[in-house]
Amino acid sequence: MLILREVSWLRAFTEDSHDKGHRLALVPTMGALHEGHMSLVTLARQVAQRVVVSIFVNPTQFAAHEDLSRYPRDEGGDIEKLKACGADAVFLPDVHTMYPPSFQTRIEPGALAHHLCGASRPGHFSGVCTVVAMLLRMSRCDAAVFGEKDFQQLQVIRRMVQDLYLDVKIIPAPIARDNDGLAKSSRNQNLSPQERAQAPKLNAALHAIAQAIGEGERQVHRALNAGRAVLAQASLASIDYLALAHANVLTPLDEGAVIDDPNTLRIFGAVRFPNARLIDNIPAV
Ligand code: AMP
Repeated sequence: MLILREVSWLRAFTEDSHDKGHRLALVPTMGALHEGHMSLVTLARQVAQRVVVSIFVNPTQFAAHEDLSRYPRDEGGDIEKLKACGADAVFLPDVHTMYPPSFQTRIEPGALAHHLCGASRPGHFSGVCTVVAMLLRMSRCDAAVFGEKDFQQLQVIRRMVQDLYLDVKIIPAPIARDNDGLAKSSRNQNLSPQERAQAPKLNAALHAIAQAIGEGERQVHRALNAGRAVLAQASLASIDYLALAHANVLTPLDEGAVIDDPNTLRIFGAVRFPNARLIDNIPAV
C-alpha cells in the first residue's frame, strides 16, 4: 500500500490509475479507523479498481471550543488496518500541506447545512465542504464514499457536488453498528465504561420514536417524547437534539406539527457525553 504525504504524490497515483484505465474511489476519513470506515473501503472496492483512503483531522470543521485536540489519532494502527483491508493507497497530508499560509478560500453550504448538527456546530459544514472539495479535486477520484452515519454531511456534500459540477459519483454507505446498536465512531473511544454502557440509548431512543410512529402516533412532540423518555435513562448524556426531518430537506418538523407522510422522514439524534458528542439517524419507517 502506498503512503502518500504530498499532493503531488497523490496526483501521480491518480495519473497512474487513470493511465491504466482504472477507476479510482476515495474514502475521506479523519482516522482512528474502525469497522465503519472499513465497510466504506469495501464498498469503494466494489465500484473502482483503485481505492485511496485519506486521513486528515480537518481543523476548519472544529470550532475553537470543540474536541480537535482530543480527537483520537492512531496513524500506525490505521496504516496496518488499511493494508489488511486491501486499500491501494493512503493519503496522509499534514495541516500545512492542506492549508498553506497563502490559503484563504471557504465553501459556504446553504440551507441543508443550517439545521441539526449545523445549528449546534456553526461553521462545521463549511469546513467539511471546503476540505472535501479539496480532497475530491486533489485526488481527481471518479467516486467517493460517505457514511450515512453522518447523514447530513452526505446530503450537504451531494448538494455541493451537484451545485459545483464536481464530476464525481457520491456513494452512500450504510451505518456500521456495535451489537448493542451503538453506531461505530472514533469518538466512542473517548467514552468511559459507564458512558459506553449508556451510549446505545441514543439508538434506542430513535427506535422508540420510529415505534411510536409505526403504532400510528402523528403528533411530532409525542413521537419525540418517546425518544426523550429513553434518553432520560442515559444520565451521563445531555440531549443536543432529537428531530424528525424530511430526508432530502433536513429542516426539523416543529414540535407542534402533525406528521403527514412518515415514509419521507428520518429520525436524527445527537447527545453529548463529557468527552464525546455522538450522533445517529434512522429512517422513520
Ligand atoms: P470520520 O472519520 O468519522 O470523519 O468518518 C469518515 C467517513 O466514515 C464518513 O463518511 C463517515 O460517515 C463514515 N463513517 C464513520 N462512522 C461510520 C459508521 N459507523 N458506519 C458507516 N460509516 C461511517
